[in-house]
Amino acid sequence: MIIAIDGPAAAGKGTLARRLARHFGLAVLDTGLLYRAVGLKVVRQGDDPSDAAAAAAAAQGLGPGDLEVSDLRGEAVAAAASKVAAIPAVRAALLDFQKNFADHPPGSAKGAVLDGRDIGTVVCPDADAKIFITASVEVRARRRLKELRDRGLEAIPSRVLHDMKERDARDAQRHLAPLEPAVDAFVCDTSDRDADAVFAAALEFIRSRNISG
Ligand code: C5P
Repeated sequence: MIIAIDGPAAAGKGTLARRLARHFGLAVLDTGLLYRAVGLKVVRQGDDPSDAAAAAAAAQGLGPGDLEVSDLRGEAVAAAASKVAAIPAVRAALLDFQKNFADHPPGSAKGAVLDGRDIGTVVCPDADAKIFITASVEVRARRRLKELRDRGLEAIPSRVLHDMKERDARDAQRHLAPLEPAVDAFVCDTSDRDADAVFAAALEFIRSRNISG
C-alpha cells in the first residue's frame, strides 16, 4: 500500500503522513528532508544553492549522516532546498532513493507513506491513494510562525509570509516536477480544518478507494 501526500509548505502534510503511517502500519518518508539536506550541504560548503554543478554533486554524494543533521528544519534551509530542488540533476539523484523506499519499505512495514511536492505525479505515479493537502498562504504562514516560536526561534510575521510566497512560487513554477496535484488526487483544503478533521477526510477517501483491507 502506497500513499502519496503532496502540497505546499505548512499545509499539514507531515502530520497527516505520520498519522496515516501509524494507522495502517506503514513506513513514512518526509522527502522534503532530502532536498533540505542537499541545500544545507551546498550552503555549508560555501556554494550557491542555485549552482547546478555544486548542488548535483551534493545530491549524488548524499549519505544517511546528512539526514541526521539537527538544523534541517529551519527557514533558511527551506529556501536553499527549494533552489536546489529546481535543478534537474538534483531531482534525478534523489529519485531512485525515494522510489526504492516506496518499493521496499524498511522493517516489516507493508507499504509506505511519502510526502513532498511530486510524489503523486513523479515519484509514485501508481500510488494507491494520492492526497493533495493545501491551505491559504496566510493560514500556512501563521502556522509556520507558531511552529518557529514554539521552537524558541525569533520570527517576524511579514517575513515568514513573504518567504512562504517566494518558496510557493519557486516550487510551483519550476519546469521539472512542479508543485501540482496529480489528476487523480483527493484535494483537501485544510484552511478551516484541524488535524483530526483532515485525518478523518483522508481516511474516508482511502476507504472509498477500497485499498485499506
Ligand atoms: O517539505 P519541505 O518544506 O521540507 O520541503 C523543502 C523544499 O524541498 C520544498 O520547498 C521543495 O522545493 C523541495 N521539495 C521538492 N520535492 C519534494 C519535497 C520537497 O521539490 N518531493
